[in-house]
Amino acid sequence: MIRENRHGEMAYMQEHLDERTDPENLLPGAKTVLSAAIAYSFPLERNEGAAKISRYALVPDYHRELRVRLGVLLDFIRAVCPGPVSGKVCVDSLPVFEKSWAEKAGLGKKGKNTMLIVPGTGSFVFLGEIILDIELPDPVNILEDPCKTCDQCLQRCPTGALLEPGKLDARKCISYLTVELKRDFTPEEAAMTGEWLFGCDICQEVCPHNALQHTARTTNGLLPRKDLAGITPEEILALTRSRFRTLFAGTPIWRTGLKRLKRNAKAVIENLERNSARCAQE
Ligand code: SF4
Ligand code: SF4
Repeated sequence: MIRENRHGEMAYMQEHLDERTDPENLLPGAKTVLSAAIAYSFPLERNEGAAKISRYALVPDYHRELRVRLGVLLDFIRAVCPGPVSGKVCVDSLPVFEKSWAEKAGLGKKGKNTMLIVPGTGSFVFLGEIILDIELPDPVNILEDPCKTCDQCLQRCPTGALLEPGKLDARKCISYLTVELKRDFTPEEAAMTGEWLFGCDICQEVCPHNALQHTARTTNGLLPRKDLAGITPEEILALTRSRFRTLFAGTPIWRTGLKRLKRNAKAVIENLERNSARCAQE
């Protein structure tokens, strides 16, 4: 992605590449990366007029939840190991490589939509790592291709961002546009975002590994906030700074900020109006 400039304006992906590829730079003496996946899959009824927000952003403060859980696991490892153990908990600090590490750890395999698919759980998972200075046995990793002849994600991506199996052009991806892109949208980018206020779940929702209609695979700390799931783009445009803080502090949306969230809401409203006008003409 970086070599072919498909990372858009995510300059941070070019930075600290050495650190991100070499666990030794994160923890001197690192010998093991222990990968963990925690499910946050749940059915989601979106109210009429509500803005679409990616599931992961509806879960309150998942970083904290994951850090706590991985911290408990690290304490356990220290308790059962005979000698001293140095460890470092990482959550979202290594966004590019954590999927590859999870794959190497045998947690799952990347699908054609580029997401890690965990057998029996799907791709709505948060990933985290514990980097350790002790050796742990290598996992036996014989997982089969989760996709085979399926190509639902490629067919259903509304912007053609999945160029081919496993190859994403971030510049066309609604998730990148609504979450990472810092500047104003061009008219083409605004139109691409459709009804999505923050993120996009389409290529995961259509994946047969995520059977979301009837089952929830999540735990108490990782349940969606209903008030956020029902918020409308008009309500976003009317938000004050203090209300924004009250609603979004601790969520991934907080990092994107009110200015960009309003940019997204404006695009959603324009896209919905354009769609209604088109429907009225037909
Ligand atoms: S997140 Fe949305 S826009 Fe991005 S690849 Fe998936 S379906 Fe396409
Ligand atoms: S939708 Fe099909 S092709 Fe895409 S990741 Fe899921 S199983 Fe693979």
